[in-house]
Amino acid sequence: MADSKDGVREIRINPIVPSESVLVSTARGLRPRKEEAPVERDSREHVEKCPFCVGNEEMTPPTVAAWPTPTDWQVRVVENLFPVLSPQQDGNALNFGLQKVIDGYGRHEVVIDHRNHGIRISDMEISHIEGIFSVFRDRMQEIYASDTRIKYVLVFKNFGAAAGASIAHTHSQIVAMPVVPENVVNELTYTRQYYAKYQQNIFHTLVDEALTFEATIYDRESGEVRRKIDVGQYIIERGEYFIAIKPFASRFEWEVQILPLMHQADFLDIKDEHLKDFATVLKHTMQRLNAVLGGMQYNFFLHSLPHSVEWQDCGASYVWHLEICPRTSIPTGFELGSGLFVSTISPEDAAERLRAVKL
Ligand SMILES: [Zn+2]
Ligand SMILES: [Zn+2]
Repeated sequence: MADSKDGVREIRINPIVPSESVLVSTARGLRPRKEEAPVERDSREHVEKCPFCVGNEEMTPPTVAAWPTPTDWQVRVVENLFPVLSPQQDGNALNFGLQKVIDGYGRHEVVIDHRNHGIRISDMEISHIEGIFSVFRDRMQEIYASDTRIKYVLVFKNFGAAAGASIAHTHSQIVAMPVVPENVVNELTYTRQYYAKYQQNIFHTLVDEALTFEATIYDRESGEVRRKIDVGQYIIERGEYFIAIKPFASRFEWEVQILPLMHQADFLDIKDEHLKDFATVLKHTMQRLNAVLGGMQYNFFLHSLPHSVEWQDCGASYVWHLEICPRTSIPTGFELGSGLFVSTISPEDAAERLRAVKL
């Protein structure tokens, strides 16, 4: 990108969800954000009093699922001790006037990602990462099948205090919800509209553009290059079945998304033979992010086709994906008040720095 001395100042519209936009403002002195300091990582392998460490299984609620086996677990799923949603709801939520309430019915599980207390995903064996995501898939499958009131199963991970992790032992969470989350609804709605209009799946179009698109845009008056888009400029990692992309417009400056190259709307469609490639792309992406950002705190979450009937017609227009959102700064009043998030590094520069990391 032509980066003048003043830097870039432009509002970019998210192509998937046009109601979301980001202000890319790389000019010095225009940094309204407070940087989130990297954390000192708890890299201990075993912590005596940690409820998620091996040997302390009696400190957690009973095991719901384990991989590969409960006795020799490498990944273990337990009920969350402090669930945000619970199956023990009476279902009598009261509606009054403008106060509409949906019963807080659901499930909340914790996935203990690894026996090793402080291990990072970037340091895990690829076969282990495959195991974690096969557990996610199998839990989602079972939860959807067990209860038709569940409209969405959200899988996510908080890593680091700034990302909301309260227990240092590496873990992910599964929340089964009685509603489809608003941001997934937006993705489904806009991509369905796009499909109806162009008979194309926008996720595939985006990936195709990232793989093939090349353009130079000149300023009409001065003839200077205003923007240069190179082939592969937004690609961070490419595997046989999966690709990691730095979105052209995303709320988090270092956000990276991993998508399948083949058509899959529902994460439950991922086959065992795809998992290794997915795990490899994820591990390499995390290695790159860690190398550039240091003690990175982050969230990741899995967006997939909901199983509730009202979204069943989105099978052709949607593609599941993993969003990885490093938490490098705290949103400011400007951002929360305007909904316009600020990126102080251009997505093109961020992608270039991630790609430049030698693995
Ligand atoms: Zn632990
Ligand atoms: Zn998403």
